[in-house]
Order: sequence, then structure tokens, then C-alpha cells
Amino acid sequence: MAATVLQKETSQVHREVLEANKSYASSFGEKGQLALPPARKFAILTCMDARLDPAKYAGLSEGDAHVIRNAGGRASDDAIRSLVISYKLLGTREWFVIHHTDCGMELFTDEIMRTLLSSSLQTATIDEKGWRNVEENGGSDEAKFISFLTFKNLADSVTEDVKRIRNHPLVPKDIPVYGYIYDVKSGKLNEVAEATAAGKAG
Ligand SMILES: [Zn+2]
Repeated sequence: MAATVLQKETSQVHREVLEANKSYASSFGEKGQLALPPARKFAILTCMDARLDPAKYAGLSEGDAHVIRNAGGRASDDAIRSLVISYKLLGTREWFVIHHTDCGMELFTDEIMRTLLSSSLQTATIDEKGWRNVEENGGSDEAKFISFLTFKNLADSVTEDVKRIRNHPLVPKDIPVYGYIYDVKSGKLNEVAEATAAGKAG
């Protein structure tokens, strides 16, 4: 009875996810035997954009690789935390930084985001004049403590992130870091030569 009530209160997406999971788990098979460390010993740092599916664009199966995602696929302190765990405890030996065309991170700045959030927590809209709040109904200045890690140039952002990882004192020199841009129009990965050169294992 309680389950029925809960079911009625959930959203359509909530129900769909649980339904999809039921079907996934019903044919889970051998995957229950997978080891914890990624079998193919590599990691991908990429954007959270809904159009990107690293399992598909990079040919991953369960158990193959670490995928670290955040807005922009940026080498934030937290992304580096994950990469350090990835090699130090779980044995990955090469890393990809993959940003993508048409990334939302090119469409705003810290200043714009902080201004929007300071007067409303509702989803903003964008038009030819830029981002704006639908209504001003109270927000928070807390965003001034967050760096949103936006960027203006894709190739530069990939190179910057590869360099930051390469030069991090907790990252060993023998892990190559490759830089790529995923094209949302074609599904292709295009190398950022400067980034990959900067990320070369030494
Ligand atoms: Zn993105």
C-alpha cells in the first residue's frame, strides 16, 4: 500500500528511471563479477552535457574506465581529487580531457552567474540580449564563493586543463594526458594537438 502511494507521488522521470533500471538489472549477468579497478586502466574527464555519452563515444563497457564529469569537463580541484584516486589506488595509466563544441560554459561568466543567482533561484532564460531571470524573487550572494570555471575558447580550455593536470604535484609524470574536443554535430573526437603535446608523459 505504501509503495502505491509513493509511486503516485513520483514524477514521470522518476518512474521511468526505476523502470529502466529494473530492465537493466534483469539482464545484468556476469557484470556482477567485475573487479573494482578499471580493466582498461584509463580515465576520461569530460563535460556533463546531456548530448555526450562517453560510454558510446569512447566505446566503454561497464568496468572499463573511470569517467569523471562536471560542468565543462574542467580540471577543478575536485576533478583532480578523482584523478589522483584513479591512478593512486585504482591503477589508471592514461587520461583524456574531453571538452566539446557548443558547450554551455562559453555562454556565461562568473559575474553573470553571480548576478542571476543573487536575485532569483529559478531557471534563467537566454535571448539575444543575454541571460535574464524570469522574475526577481529572492536569491543568494553565496555564488561569489564559487568559481564556475567558464571559458571563452575551447581549445585553450582543453590545453589549460591538460596543463593543470600535467603540472599538478600529485600527478606522476609517466601518465600521458590527451586533449580532445568532441563535436556535438558529428560525434567525432578531434585532438587539440597543443594540449596533447603539453600532456605528454615525461
Ligand atoms: Zn559542456
